[in-house]
Amino acid sequence: MSTLLETRKLTAFYGDFQALFGIDVEVGAGEVVALIGANGAGKSTFLKSVTGLMKASGDSVRFGGEVISGLAPGKIVAKGIAMVPEGRRLFPSLSVEENLKIGAYTKRAGPWNLDSVYRLFPALRERRRQPGTALSGGQQQMVAIGRALMSNPSLLICDEVSLGLAPIIVKEIYDALPAITQDGLSVIVVEQDVATARRVSNRLYCMQEGRVSLTGRSCDVTHEQISKAYFGI
Ligand code: ATP
Repeated sequence: MSTLLETRKLTAFYGDFQALFGIDVEVGAGEVVALIGANGAGKSTFLKSVTGLMKASGDSVRFGGEVISGLAPGKIVAKGIAMVPEGRRLFPSLSVEENLKIGAYTKRAGPWNLDSVYRLFPALRERRRQPGTALSGGQQQMVAIGRALMSNPSLLICDEVSLGLAPIIVKEIYDALPAITQDGLSVIVVEQDVATARRVSNRLYCMQEGRVSLTGRSCDVTHEQISKAYFGI
């Protein structure tokens, strides 16, 4: 499997405070990689560094073999990294369809368009003229994922999509992952719920205090290993 995203010795600082201490992460083409860890472990900082919201140094981030650290966020999106932000962030005055269309602005070619997003999440087709904010939390999350897919990324990053959603809705959303990755798209999921993270991913990375404390195939790592890596006990 070819490597799509690779970070090497990635560090990050907020002023004098060091949040990441040399993070090595790899994501292969078509792979689902879960990022887990307690509050403050550094997951969001890692995502910000990859997407250019925080400046990553030197050649610490490569995407498709090309160094992307130091590039502006817009340039990184144009190269094919799309983010589903925590909290969904739909445009309240726009309809579902208008929210989805905003994602298509990069004009990258690929399988994702309004029709394929509606096939992935049929509930959105029925509600396409409604304002995004009139939808349930789960449907809003579907819009946020659909909007990111509309840019036809090679890497989709999902930040805590299950936050505040009922388990059955979380399952419905994650059940869409195989259809999303079938054309080789890679996915990073940041997930608070460890059982869900293991179930939906091929591999996982656990972070603790700005370091990777455990990595492995999700079906191989044990509950004990995760507890230790998560809490440091
Ligand atoms: P959560 O699950 O709560 O989002 P996280 O794993 O994403 O946690 P980060 O938000 O990346 O963790 O935080 C990593 C460390 O950086 C924490 O110690 C946090 O307090 C610190 N931090 C995060 N954002 C800032 C900021 N804007 N300024 C200063 N320190 C910050």
